[in-house]
Amino acid sequence: MSYQYDLFVIGAGSGGVRAARMSATYGAKVAVAEDRYYGGTCVNVGCVPKKLFVYASHFPEDFETAKGFGWTIDNASFDWHKLLTNKNREIERLNGVYKRILDGAGVEIIDGHAMIVDEHTISINGENITAERILIATGGWPSVPDFPGKEYVITSNEAFFLDKFPKQIIIVGGGYIAVEFAGIFHGLGVDTTLVYRGPLFLRGFDHDLREIIADEMQKKGINIVFNNNIDRIENNNGHYKAHFTNSEVQDTDLIMYATGRTPNTKNLGLENVNVKLNKNGAVIVNEKYQTSVPSIYAIGDVTDRVNLTPVALAEGMILARYLFDKKNDAVDYSDIPTCVFSQPNMGTVGLTEEQAMEKYGDVAVYKSKFKPMKLSLTDSDERTFMKLIVDKKSDRVVGVHMVGSDAGEIIQGIAIAIKAGATKATFDSTIGIHPTAAEEFVTMRTPAEN
Ligand SMILES: Cc1cc2nc3c(=O)[nH]c(=O)nc-3n(C[C@H](O)[C@H](O)[C@H](O)COP(=O)(O)OP(=O)(O)OC[C@H]3O[C@@H](n4cnc5c(N)ncnc54)[C@H](O)[C@@H]3O)c2cc1C
Repeated sequence: MSYQYDLFVIGAGSGGVRAARMSATYGAKVAVAEDRYYGGTCVNVGCVPKKLFVYASHFPEDFETAKGFGWTIDNASFDWHKLLTNKNREIERLNGVYKRILDGAGVEIIDGHAMIVDEHTISINGENITAERILIATGGWPSVPDFPGKEYVITSNEAFFLDKFPKQIIIVGGGYIAVEFAGIFHGLGVDTTLVYRGPLFLRGFDHDLREIIADEMQKKGINIVFNNNIDRIENNNGHYKAHFTNSEVQDTDLIMYATGRTPNTKNLGLENVNVKLNKNGAVIVNEKYQTSVPSIYAIGDVTDRVNLTPVALAEGMILARYLFDKKNDAVDYSDIPTCVFSQPNMGTVGLTEEQAMEKYGDVAVYKSKFKPMKLSLTDSDERTFMKLIVDKKSDRVVGVHMVGSDAGEIIQGIAIAIKAGATKATFDSTIGIHPTAAEEFVTMRTPAEN
C-alpha cells in the first residue's frame, strides 16, 4: 500500500513543528496542517508573549530600584497599545521563522483544519490525504467552568490582545498562568485581585516556595484571596459584579479565568477511528507516543502529561528519531526544571521537600533567605529564597528551589548538575561566582531544623 506521505502532522505548535522538521531531515515525506497560527500556543498565546509582558510589567520596580542608584526618572508612563503592537510584530516575525524552518526542511505546509477520516486518511480543505502515520499534536485550549456569567470572562488567549486596558481585574485560578498574569497586570498598574478556591496556590510545587510567592505578591500589593470562588457574574454595561461564594461582591472592569486547559481532541474526527482518550479528553499513548490505533501517534499538550514547550519539543524529536532514524532512545521525564515567571520568579528542579521525605525518608534541607544585592540601596523588602534538599544516605541533591530575580536562568544551570547526579559535596566543592545571588547555592552549610 502506498501513501502520499510518510507522516502527516496535525498542528504546527512546539511539538508538531519539531517532529515534522526532524522527520523530514531524516528523509521522510512529511506534511503539516495548521488551522490557526504557526508556532502554536507557545509562540502566539503562551510562553513568548507572556514573557514579553512579564518584562514590560517589571519596569516600574526597576525605575524604583534605579532611584536608589542615583537616577531620577520623571514622568514614566506606559502605553498598552504600543506594547501590543510591538509584541504582535515580534510574534509575526516568529510565525515566519517557523514557516521557513518547515519549508527549509522540505515539509509541506497546509493551512487548514485537519480531521482524521480513517487510520491512514486525513481530510483538509475538502481534500482527502493519505499517510502511513498520523501525528496528533493539536495542543490544548483554556477551559472555564460552567456558572452564570461565564460568557463575560476572558482567558489567557484574550489577555494577549485586549483592546481596552482595565483599571481593575479579578483573576481566578491557582496555577502558574493565574499567578503570572496577576504579576503582569499588577506591574502594569492594574488593581489586581487573585482568587483561588484552595488554601494556597501553585499546588505541586514545594510548600515553602508557594508560601513565599504568596507573601511576596501580597507585599507588592496584589490582593490574594484563598478559599473563595466566583458564584456568578453580573454585567453592568461592560463593568462586572463578581458574586463570591462567601457572599461578598466585588466590582471590576475585567475578569480572567486561568482555571486549566483542555486537550484539543474535539472536532478532530477521532470518533472515526478508535483513538482512546482519558477522562479529561487527553489522547492516551504508550512509551513510543503511539495511540490505541497503531498508525496514529500523539505528543505534547494533547496528551496532557507534562504541559511545557521543551517537553513537547523533546517528544517531537524522540518520535522522529524513533520513526525515521531507527533510534530507540526515550525522553527522560525526571528532574524537569521549570520556572514560574511570577514576580519575583520561582525556579525549581527535582523533588519538593514533601516528595523527598516520602521517597528518601531521611533528608537534609538547606535554606537561605536574604535581601538581593541589587535591592540593597532601595527600600524594597523583597527577599530571595533558596532551598536545597539532600538525600542523607547518598548525599545526592534531589531538589533545588529558588524564589528571586532570574530564578529560571539560575535553576536551568543547576538542573544540569542535578541530572548529572551532583552530591552536596559537589555543590560544596564548587567555587562560587562573587558577588552573585547564585553563589549562595554553593555556600549553604548548615541544614535547617526539620
Ligand atoms: C499562557 C501560557 C503560558 C505558557 N507559558 C509557558 C512557559 O513559560 N514555558 C513553557 O515551557 N510552557 C509554557 N506554556 C505551555 C506551552 O505553551 C505548551 O506546553 C506548548 O505550546 C505545547 O505544545 P504542543 O505542540 O503540544 O501544542 P500547541 O503549541 O498548542 O500547538 C498545537 C497547534 O495545533 C493546531 N491545531 C489544533 N487542532 C488542529 C487541527 N484540527 N488542524 C490543524 N491544526 C490544529 C493549533 O492551532 C496549534 O497551533 C504556556 C501556555 C500558556 C497557555
